[in-house]
Amino acid sequence: MSVTSKIEIKNASLTKDTLSRLLKQLCKEKKLIAPVRNADLDDVNFLPVTDPAQICCDYDNTTTSPKEFFFPQYECMFTFSGASHDSIETTNDGEEIVLFGVRACDVKGIELLDKFYERNFEDNYYLSKRQKSVFISVACSDLNDQCFCTSTETGPVLQEGFDIQLLSSDDDYAVQIGSEKGLQLFEKHKDLFGPPLDVDINKLLAQARKQKPKFNLQKVYENLKQQNVDEDLWDDIGDRCQSCGLCLFVCPTCSCYSVKDQTTPSGENRRSRQWDACYFSSITRMAGGNNPVRTSAEMVKRKYQHKLVQQIDEFGTSGCVGCGRCTLACVGNVNWLDNIIKIERAG
Ligand code: SF4
Ligand code: SF4
Repeated sequence: MSVTSKIEIKNASLTKDTLSRLLKQLCKEKKLIAPVRNADLDDVNFLPVTDPAQICCDYDNTTTSPKEFFFPQYECMFTFSGASHDSIETTNDGEEIVLFGVRACDVKGIELLDKFYERNFEDNYYLSKRQKSVFISVACSDLNDQCFCTSTETGPVLQEGFDIQLLSSDDDYAVQIGSEKGLQLFEKHKDLFGPPLDVDINKLLAQARKQKPKFNLQKVYENLKQQNVDEDLWDDIGDRCQSCGLCLFVCPTCSCYSVKDQTTPSGENRRSRQWDACYFSSITRMAGGNNPVRTSAEMVKRKYQHKLVQQIDEFGTSGCVGCGRCTLACVGNVNWLDNIIKIERAG
C-alpha cells in the first residue's frame, strides 16, 4: 500500500489572495488542518480550521508534530464481544484531510514514518489515514537556534517527497507539485493557480538553502558507530533526563507504541494502542522482570544510536529531521543539538 506516488515536478504560482481563496475552498471540501496560534499559551499547533483567518502564518514551527493525525496518541484498534473473533469490529477508518503549512522537516519526518509503517507488515491504521491526506508544505526562510535541517538534509526546502510545496517570493508563492495527490488537488483548483513565477526557481531554492549546516552528519554517524563517544556524555545526559518522554512525544519520527486490552464497565472489550517511549524503562522490561537496558545513560545512548546510526543504515536517511522540538520541550535541560555537536567532535 503506497501512500504517495511521486511525479515529475510541475511549477505554478499563487498570490496571497488566491492562496486564501484556495484554503477557503478546501475548508468546505475536506478537513483542513493548519497552524493555529494559542494566544494564552503563546504556541502554535496544527488544528482543524474552518476559516483561513484562523491560520497563523508567522511561526517557526509548531510545538507538536503532525504525526498525531496518522498515529494518534491513543487509538482504539478494534472492539470485540464474547470469545468469538467473528464479532471483531476494526476502527481504522480515516477522513480526507489537507495539512497546510507543514515544514520541510516534518514532511521528511512523516516520510520516515511511512517507511517504518510499511516495512515488515502494512500497518493499516497508519497507512489508511496517510492515504487520505495531502500536504501543502511551506518552506522556511530562516532556521531558529535549535533547528538544523540543513545538517540532516531535510530542509528548509525539499528537492522531492512533497505533495505541494510553496516558496515565498515577495507577495507571491512559487508552487511546486511533486506527487499524484498534489496534482489531483492542483487540477481540481486549477483556476486559482497562475503560471510559474517569472523568477529562477533554482535561485529561490538556493537562497532558502543558504544556511550553513551546524554539524557534519557523516562524522556524527561514524563516531557513534565506532563507539568513539566518551561514556561521560551519556552519564551527563542520563543524569539530566527525567524520563518524562516529552522529547519523544513531540518528535515527528518517533513511532513507539504499546498495546493494551481492556474491558469497559459496559462490557465492551477493546484493544488500543498509545504512544510509548524508549525513555520509559517499561518499554524494554521483559516478562519475569529482567530489563536489559538498566540505566538512564543506556537509554539515552540507545536513542542517539537509533536515530543517527540504525535508521540511517535501515532507511538511508537520518532518524532525526532537525526540527529542534525535543530541545525546546525538555524539562531536564537536555540540548539535543549541542549533544550532537559534542558527538561530532568526539574521538
Ligand atoms: S524531554 Fe528531556 S527530561 Fe524528558 S525524557 Fe526527553 S530528554 Fe528526558
Ligand atoms: S530528535 Fe529532536 S530534533 Fe530530531 S526530529 Fe526528533 S524532535 Fe526533531
